[in-house]
Amino acid sequence: MDLTGQKCRSDHLRQEWAELYLGARGLGTKYLKEEMGANTDPLSPENVLIFATGPLTGTNSPTGGRFCVITKGALTNAIACSNSGGQFGGELKLAGWDMIIITGKAKTPVYLLIQDEKVHLHSASDFIWGNTVWETEKKLRSKHQDPLIRIASIGSAGENLVRYACIVNDKDRAAGRSGVGAVMGSKNLKAIAVRGKKGVSVRDPKAFLSAVAESRSLLDPSEGRLQLAMNGTMGMLDITQAHGSLPTRNCRDVQFEGANKINLAAMKRPRESDHGANLQANKACFACPIGCGRVSKIDPEHFSIQGKPQYQEALGGLEYEAGYALGPMTGVSDIEAATYVNAACNEHAMDPISFGATVAAAMELFENDAISLKETNGVALKFGSAKGLVWAVDVTGRFKDFGQELALGSKRLCEKFGHPQFAMVVKGQEFPGYDPRAMQGMGLAYATSNRGACHLRADPYSDDFDHLQTKGKAKIVKESQDENSFIDSTGLCAFAFGDMGIDEVCDQLSAALPSSWNKQRAQDTGERIWNLERQFNLDAGFKKDDDTLPERVLKEPAKSGSGKGWVSQVPLMLQEYYQLRGWDPDGFPTKETLSRLGL
Ligand code: SF4
Repeated sequence: MDLTGQKCRSDHLRQEWAELYLGARGLGTKYLKEEMGANTDPLSPENVLIFATGPLTGTNSPTGGRFCVITKGALTNAIACSNSGGQFGGELKLAGWDMIIITGKAKTPVYLLIQDEKVHLHSASDFIWGNTVWETEKKLRSKHQDPLIRIASIGSAGENLVRYACIVNDKDRAAGRSGVGAVMGSKNLKAIAVRGKKGVSVRDPKAFLSAVAESRSLLDPSEGRLQLAMNGTMGMLDITQAHGSLPTRNCRDVQFEGANKINLAAMKRPRESDHGANLQANKACFACPIGCGRVSKIDPEHFSIQGKPQYQEALGGLEYEAGYALGPMTGVSDIEAATYVNAACNEHAMDPISFGATVAAAMELFENDAISLKETNGVALKFGSAKGLVWAVDVTGRFKDFGQELALGSKRLCEKFGHPQFAMVVKGQEFPGYDPRAMQGMGLAYATSNRGACHLRADPYSDDFDHLQTKGKAKIVKESQDENSFIDSTGLCAFAFGDMGIDEVCDQLSAALPSSWNKQRAQDTGERIWNLERQFNLDAGFKKDDDTLPERVLKEPAKSGSGKGWVSQVPLMLQEYYQLRGWDPDGFPTKETLSRLGL
């Protein structure tokens, strides 16, 4: 879809690329790399924005509803690939599309309506531009008289180029990280609405159903699935708290004295006002038998929602990453305030991880007198202030007052106010909920992540919770980065893996696709995708020096917990990691590596 020329054309999928890069994250990155130069300004019309499904998206493979948004990130200037669930990805595939590639910039705000093969651009001016995500979804379904239209849209954050604006679909599922919503806003594209009635075909339906049944027989009775259904991901907060890897007050601490007020037990605790609890139910994305999504109801008497009827119903609840960023990272122990702020991030389409960590950085700036009450309109933006956090989301979501500064993200904000050391970021992207001093593998995973600090690019969790030593971490990080690159390219959710293994997914792929898949091919594909992303970043100007962590976690030892006295050992692990990757000492893939991977 060329927004500048307002022209749309359809093309067959490049099958030779699909054989090498599979789909979603991998194939989308290949198209991006071929379509534009890595030096493109992410907020210019030349940036390309790709919505890509995987080969299993839209099928009944367990969790087969994922899609990725691939572009150059507005927050990071690096490759961005943000993965979302909900119903939108499955619907796009049911409409017959593997991928939407958006180029250029519309002169005035527009939205894209896809109904099977019918594709139309409509004006969003005087209709949904300026509206929140929730209003946009309601208005589009009403206008087009179809309650089953699925919508991915931006809020005023994306329209105003908030650096960590995201794209929200189905009210509270998000392509959350790296500022993909700001890229969409820069193109004057408010929403993509899709309705599909065509179905998805696979090469050998009988073999495919049998492979899916085999996967379900492993996944359905598993303890991991039951835990995720009952508790979502918030159970992690008690683990990181006990371990001493819960980033607290902008990583000044690694344990939070208010943890028991904002953890899973607090979500379930009955409250006095309505005798209900914050947590009401769970919910699932397309074709998902797990259902880790949270449905919450904010305390009707809580200050944050007075006069705001849209927050008085059940809405998307806290998951661990948002819970950490809006709770311990800001020192706030008010679970109702954190739930409100999380919902407001959904309504305005902002990444709650980056938002929370940016507010935490602003709180440290405030406490160091780099920001005063004058800037904050009299609001004391101190660690632990629920009122400050709620005020911050309201002004940033609507891009008003000091919200225009918070919109910059931690790195740009801290540089502007003279304390770059307060930004807890890698490649400009804010930390997720694991302090690298007690989790050495996670530190290396953050430092080497192609999209900036991320908890989903590698899987060093169990080893990190087991021991602090750095030995063996580089191998775990490298291998799991490759595996996750493959998983993100299938159209499935990472949470389905573990009980359902790579072998089972390869059986599904072999039944669905023209060629056969096995574990080795999956690993090679993941490694190829990782190196392709790395090449994009190197072409964009990233260097070895960017594979690092903020000084705080490299120089200030953890004050408590199992990592007490430790700093991150990333510099020690980096060369071993490069060697395992087949990169030279400066972090460039060698000729042999590129040739082995067909790059
Ligand atoms: S496990 Fe959770 S995030 Fe993954 S597809 Fe299911 S409900 Fe969605």
